[in-house]
Amino acid sequence: MKRRELSAVELLEDCLGVIEREEPRIHAFVRLSEELARAQAEEADRRFSGDGQVGPLTGIPVAIKDVLCVENVETTAGSQILRGFRPPYESTAVARLRAQGAVFLGMTNCDEFAMGSSTENSGYFPTRNPHDPSRVPGGSSGGSAAAVAAGEAVFGLGTDTGGSIRQPAALCGVVGMKPTYGRVSRYGLIAFASSLDQIGPFTRMVGDAALVLQAIAGWDRRDATSVDRPVDMLSSLERGVEGLRLGLPREYFEAEGMEPGVRAAVERAVLTLERAGAELVDVRLPHTDYGLAAYYIIAPAEASSNLARFDGVRYGARAESAGNLLETYLQTRRGGFGPEVRRRIMLGTYALSAGYYDAYYLKAQKVRTLIAQDFERAFESCDAIVSATSPVVAFPIGAKVADPLAMYVCDVLTLGGNLAALPGVSIPCGTSEGLPVGLQVLAPQWADGMALRVARAYEAASNGS
Ligand code: GLN
Repeated sequence: MKRRELSAVELLEDCLGVIEREEPRIHAFVRLSEELARAQAEEADRRFSGDGQVGPLTGIPVAIKDVLCVENVETTAGSQILRGFRPPYESTAVARLRAQGAVFLGMTNCDEFAMGSSTENSGYFPTRNPHDPSRVPGGSSGGSAAAVAAGEAVFGLGTDTGGSIRQPAALCGVVGMKPTYGRVSRYGLIAFASSLDQIGPFTRMVGDAALVLQAIAGWDRRDATSVDRPVDMLSSLERGVEGLRLGLPREYFEAEGMEPGVRAAVERAVLTLERAGAELVDVRLPHTDYGLAAYYIIAPAEASSNLARFDGVRYGARAESAGNLLETYLQTRRGGFGPEVRRRIMLGTYALSAGYYDAYYLKAQKVRTLIAQDFERAFESCDAIVSATSPVVAFPIGAKVADPLAMYVCDVLTLGGNLAALPGVSIPCGTSEGLPVGLQVLAPQWADGMALRVARAYEAASNGS
């Protein structure tokens, strides 16, 4: 585009053409923002013709998860309760893309309030996996993952609270990254579990994920959990793995429900990294078994508090037939939230209630500390940890909807990274039963560049480019 061989408008038209062809099959978007996209593409072309600043994302079409507020564009967290909500302000991550001149294609489908691992909990419709439309794309950011995998968008934004970027990236065969907690401002993100939520990119190549993260990361005075640290995702990207120690946690290779084909693909990827010069070391994460239980106390507890604000008065939809204020609250919430969200609110409220707080919430917080210490200890003997991202490949639509626990188990390899606030990348590493498998690279806090570097080294070693 800098050489004026392709215009932003042409690239947008190309994406819109793919969207027109693919959407009836995969349903990645809950709404398109075509008019805005056209205006942004024209503006980007003006920048390329010398009228303003050009950055790496100028003119590049992005698919945005429906939990990130885009000013004046309906944003609903995949929920009926936010129908019609047009945020009067913009999330910082989106604002930073807008400032670079990115082109907003629309909002992508997700599990309602990001609660789920398949996008089937959306308040609208399920999204389908572009590799096999009878299967789920993963979740909760399944729409963004599917949009990038299908070529509808050049990159996507998602959020990851327990795996919601990395797991759909794995199931759709694209790159997805959850940065270190605090790396990307969550201002303007519709909160699920505030001590775990992070925003990150979906791309086809690791280098692109680094460029997007470089654009959205950094301190923001509007998010007190964002941290003022230098953001350098690019300078070590091409250094390879020669001399790096990669930790293999036995608990992650022997996780319950690990499909043999997934394990085999990941083991091949590990050998590729070894051939590329990495030294493999065994590490232990002894509290892994308790991670799921702790996560499924902490995340619902925080969600029950965060979702208290949706009362039919301040945002989105309102039950119109209610006779008084209390009925307005009750009817709006009963009609507006889907079953999984209601389950989480009840679980969380219970775990936080007087008399149960110590037994559940406080206990879960202590387990969280133990899990973070497991990782600290493991990183004393390695530079990064590699494993599968998801123990399973994309499963058929409907296979796990009746069994919430079966769905929760999908997060067993990803949620440790959230509990310990670590950066993690998922990168495609071959297939099992013809479906994509993801290799997860976890790195110590703030070593986002290391996670990207290892993922990039695998990408280069496996496809030679
Ligand atoms: N699947 C997990 C959950 O349902 C993670 C979701 C996420 O990361 N947003 O909570």
